[in-house]
Amino acid sequence: MIQNHTTVAPQRNGLIDLFARSISYLRVSLTDRCNLRCLYCVTEEEASGCLTKLGHDELLSYEELLRVVRVAVAMGITKVRLTGGEPLMRRNVMQFIRALTRIEGLSDVRITTNGVLLERYGRELYEAGVTKVNISLDSFKPERVAAITGVDCFAQVWRGVETALALGFSPVKLNMVAMRHINDDEIADFARLSRLLPLQVRFIEFMPMGESSRWSADAYISTDEIMARIAVLGDLIPMTKGWHDGPARVYRLGTDSVGSLGFISPLSHHFCHRCNRLRLTSAGRLRFCLLHDNEIDLRPVLRDGSGDEALRQVLLDAIRNKPERHHLDERLHRSGGGCHGRMSRIGG
Ligand code: SAM
Repeated sequence: MIQNHTTVAPQRNGLIDLFARSISYLRVSLTDRCNLRCLYCVTEEEASGCLTKLGHDELLSYEELLRVVRVAVAMGITKVRLTGGEPLMRRNVMQFIRALTRIEGLSDVRITTNGVLLERYGRELYEAGVTKVNISLDSFKPERVAAITGVDCFAQVWRGVETALALGFSPVKLNMVAMRHINDDEIADFARLSRLLPLQVRFIEFMPMGESSRWSADAYISTDEIMARIAVLGDLIPMTKGWHDGPARVYRLGTDSVGSLGFISPLSHHFCHRCNRLRLTSAGRLRFCLLHDNEIDLRPVLRDGSGDEALRQVLLDAIRNKPERHHLDERLHRSGGGCHGRMSRIGG
């Protein structure tokens, strides 16, 4: 049985967009490089080796990234998520992260990772103050993980999950993109895991990312269907949304679960009215919405000798340009639907 859900009003701060949303969260894609070739992120051709990567000069340097974050924090951003590509793949990433977490006023730095390097970097991340982690894992079957990601990495990723739990990361969220005929037979297994481990297992709707993914309408499964499949296992009890739950609707499976379940429905129940984020792509562009292709290039203002006031104005412009909502749900079943950004540059 699925019980009704209530949400808590978002916190307000100084950065308010044209639709009265408070913008407090910046997602930073550190690199477009990745050690995996997931089928929702790259095409088949790219998976077999012809992935175009950004050149060194196209990426923002660590100094430039720190400057952007400092200015954004002074304007009201309080939370930053590091993503990619695979953020832990960027050279000297820990040096950057230690400088980032020292920025005054930045209270919350998190990371989204595929988990492959988490066993190696977990302790350093935790000690640097990054104690909240999202780990992407779409199957518990090693051969299936290899088919989805192009790499035989299940054991490494799972050791990453265990490392995060053992070190005390909280929350540890496991992101599963549910895909019909690919991993949907494991939805129940993922849900059951939340009974045993203090994780939030999150089911994400498969999003059409234009030419850069192997999305197909057949593979898409709505949150309603996912929840219906889980509800046969026990009651889905709504939990009061924590401030770290983002767009997920959060439930507990029965009364004896130690973990929780999150459902992220960008297509079937878009959460644009609550969106509090800006994105900085690995190509140094501010992106106002994951599923809208409009962006502003930050590199000119960072590299032409302009001061922080000019940078501040560009950030304000980005917030003014944030669309009210995306319209992907309406375009889904028409040819040419989807947005055209590359997930590996945007960072999810
Ligand atoms: N490499 C890191 C990782 O694997 O978590 C961070 C980058 S990855 C692009 C961020 C998240 O986006 C992952 O949880 C991934 O599952 C999700 N993602 C990527 N493409 C997607 C798509 N087409 N639909 C839904 N989720 C997607």
